[in-house]
Amino acid sequence: MQGQTRRVAIVTGAARGIGAATARHLASQGHAVAVLDLDLEACDVVCEEIVAAGGEAVAISADVADEAAVDAAIVTVVETFGAPTILVNNAGITRDNLLFKMTADDWDSVMRVHLRGAFLMTQAVQKHMVSERYGRIVNLSSTSARGNRGQANYAAAKAGIQGFTKTIAIELGPFGVTANAVAPGFVQTEMTEATAARLGMSFTDFTAAAVAKIPVGRGGTPEDIAALVGYLVSESAGYVSGQIIYADGARRG
Ligand code: NAD
Repeated sequence: MQGQTRRVAIVTGAARGIGAATARHLASQGHAVAVLDLDLEACDVVCEEIVAAGGEAVAISADVADEAAVDAAIVTVVETFGAPTILVNNAGITRDNLLFKMTADDWDSVMRVHLRGAFLMTQAVQKHMVSERYGRIVNLSSTSARGNRGQANYAAAKAGIQGFTKTIAIELGPFGVTANAVAPGFVQTEMTEATAARLGMSFTDFTAAAVAKIPVGRGGTPEDIAALVGYLVSESAGYVSGQIIYADGARRG
């Protein structure tokens, strides 16, 4: 442990990508981590890595938008490690299409995971944070919240996450709970690989096109985002709340 009190953390969508990197990072900070995702086997792999590195982790299979599954997941976390006081709402999907081709199902699916999922998880976990008089919530937004061609659904969800974050920061602040959103730009994960495939581009070409617009001259890594989340959930970040923090290598437009 690196100078921090051991806390119980839940990271959603933690089987891969940014969520997996965040779970590994929080475990390396000395926290017990619930690695929550749809696919239990993929969660197990991340947990094995954490345990092999000397950390504590439990794999939990749950759909964040399923109320009964969320409630059951929180019970498992409490029984395994105790009251959760760190929550990272990271689970996400894309169903990109231009507006005229986007189906109502594309719209609903994205809203369901990002907004209903973050709402259900936060509502279930905040009870524990309030009774502990301590909590750290980080929600994954995106630069797409500012508008992005082909992502009317995702942009609306990620902008919604920002309003949700600012509101829960106001409501939960008096109980020692902070809430912030991290809004990454381009990060190399299976999500952006799928975007490249949808556009008919190789991931190498897609990455090169993205990097050409990023002043720091590279794409983001899951570890870049995990490090920022790690700060926001630390005890020393107690005066940072209700913020939307962009991690996009200074990309604009
Ligand atoms: P990813 O697709 O690699 O991983 C997302 C994970 O979420 C997957 O493991 C998936 O199984 C899980 N998930 C999806 N629906 C779920 C559900 N209903 N319940 C539980 N788990 C579910 O994505 P990523 O690139 O690591 O992105 C993580 C987060 O960061 C997402 O919220 C995404 O929108 C956001 N983000 C990503 C980027 C990027 O460039 N990769 C940029 C900005 C924001």
